[in-house]
Amino acid sequence: MSGIVIVGGGLAGLFCALELAPHPVTILAAAPIGEGASSAWAQGGIAAALSEGDSAELHTRDTMIAGAGLVDEAVTRGMAQEASERVRDLLRYGVPFDRDLEGRLIQSREAAHSARRIVRVAGDRAGRAIMDALIAKVHETPSITLYEGFVAEELIVREGRIAGVVARGDHGFADRAHFFRASDVVLATGGIGALYAVTTNPPEARGIGLALAARAGAIIADPEFVQFHPTAIAIGRDPAPLATEALRGEGATLIDAHGVRFMPPLHADAELAPRDIVARGVFAQWQNGKGAFLDCRAAIGAAFDAKFPTVAAACRSAGIDPVTTPIPVMPAEHYHMGGVKTDAQGRTSVPGLWAAGEVSSTGVHGANRLASNSLLEAVVFASRIAQALKHSATDSIAPDKLTPDQRNDPPPALINALRQTMSEHVGVIRDGAGLQTALRDLAAFRRDTDDPAVHAMLDSALLITAAAFNRRESRGGHWRSDYPHASDAYAHRTFLTLNDAKAIAQEALA
Ligand SMILES: Cc1cc2nc3c(=O)[nH]c(=O)nc-3n(C[C@H](O)[C@H](O)[C@H](O)COP(=O)(O)OP(=O)(O)OC[C@H]3O[C@@H](n4cnc5c(N)ncnc54)[C@H](O)[C@@H]3O)c2cc1C
Repeated sequence: MSGIVIVGGGLAGLFCALELAPHPVTILAAAPIGEGASSAWAQGGIAAALSEGDSAELHTRDTMIAGAGLVDEAVTRGMAQEASERVRDLLRYGVPFDRDLEGRLIQSREAAHSARRIVRVAGDRAGRAIMDALIAKVHETPSITLYEGFVAEELIVREGRIAGVVARGDHGFADRAHFFRASDVVLATGGIGALYAVTTNPPEARGIGLALAARAGAIIADPEFVQFHPTAIAIGRDPAPLATEALRGEGATLIDAHGVRFMPPLHADAELAPRDIVARGVFAQWQNGKGAFLDCRAAIGAAFDAKFPTVAAACRSAGIDPVTTPIPVMPAEHYHMGGVKTDAQGRTSVPGLWAAGEVSSTGVHGANRLASNSLLEAVVFASRIAQALKHSATDSIAPDKLTPDQRNDPPPALINALRQTMSEHVGVIRDGAGLQTALRDLAAFRRDTDDPAVHAMLDSALLITAAAFNRRESRGGHWRSDYPHASDAYAHRTFLTLNDAKAIAQEALA
């Protein structure tokens, strides 16, 4: 038997499975669906040009400005035009987006959007509410077979085409590899945040999906472009809780320990400047010992808990009252613009392999993602993949091979060292010497372990670092202090294979 396997149970994976119904499909997810997925943590919402005076054209323009010259205009326009239909799909699945008294969807403003364009749920609960609605639908959809707690470890390619996925599960077959034969595999494994010491992503976002695709020969696009959220709440937690951008949209300001606003001298839009600029501003404050705090006292004040319950709970758990006290913030890895290169239908360069959501690179983010475009991208491309696969002759499948080998947990000290290296040298501010150090560290870590999960993490880290080393300019989320300006010579996207990344590393260290 052969069928469609979706790897990942976040928004992209679940939406694709629901849109495929009643076509049979199997989902493998590293954690129970709803857990271990960034989707459930999204606080802002989904960008969709629905309000009067707004348009898909304006949305496209804003996305292109944010992406700093590397956005694929046609693909982005298509996504912006489809946004209202996909929001309607989500409403159909039961997502309770916020409405006004007349029943119209309420649209909020976020940084770098020229219009009020974000649909939200109960202020900052969009991700949780969307996932709860989809999870309920998935459970009542008989065409979807779920394998939760299964981590994909290898994509099998035979005669140039995807033939299946090897995944390790913990449901009754502890520590055993299972082979899922598949005619098509949809990768929906999310981001790479857990490769960094400070991240807003769940621990499952280890970049394994990206590495598996690269090992299967897929072309990877723009891996050097990593977005750091400027305002993760600095209370020493891993992952770091997020103080949503919407707070700055409501007028919250960034101040140092003396109460002085530090963003106005750095950018005309001050706190609402593009994320990378705010992230560097915040990072510099910590570097020069002045600290960085989000001051919500005047702009939000007593309404804080009602308007932003998730942020309020995170602050209060650390003894901070956001109504009366500025919130300490620092940049954290938040979103990967790069990923497995796809065409406008979500097809990768490997026949039978598709990618949707954060693991993919469709061309809509360029060098920097516009806030709230990622949930939109996830549903638009997951839906397109489902439409393309709906007509394939497939069946529901069960794992048909078990390999009884035992695995130990990946060595935590090595993983911590890898995360430190990535944050220190491949983070908010990069330079050639630091990137060489990172490439050297990655090679040393590889020699220190034969753990396959760590090797996959190292492959993803290598793709990011090698591409960052090769891009000798600063653009969007990629900032090189040794090349602080954008250069026409690099005004193009990066496309590379794992072998290309290895060759770049070899040359850099020669
Ligand atoms: C705190 C936070 C707030 C955000 N806020 C917003 C927002 O307001 N608006 C917006 O547009 N975007 C936001 N984003 C980004 C957005 O949430 C993500 O880009 C998007 O949800 C990614 O969806 P996904 O389905 O691709 O991945 P995820 O939702 O991360 O799901 C990935 C899935 O793959 C599974 N998985 C991973 N590796 C494997 C493996 N090897 N085998 C099997 N399964 C695997 C995971 O367990 C999970 O089920 C936010 C992100 C974070 C972290």
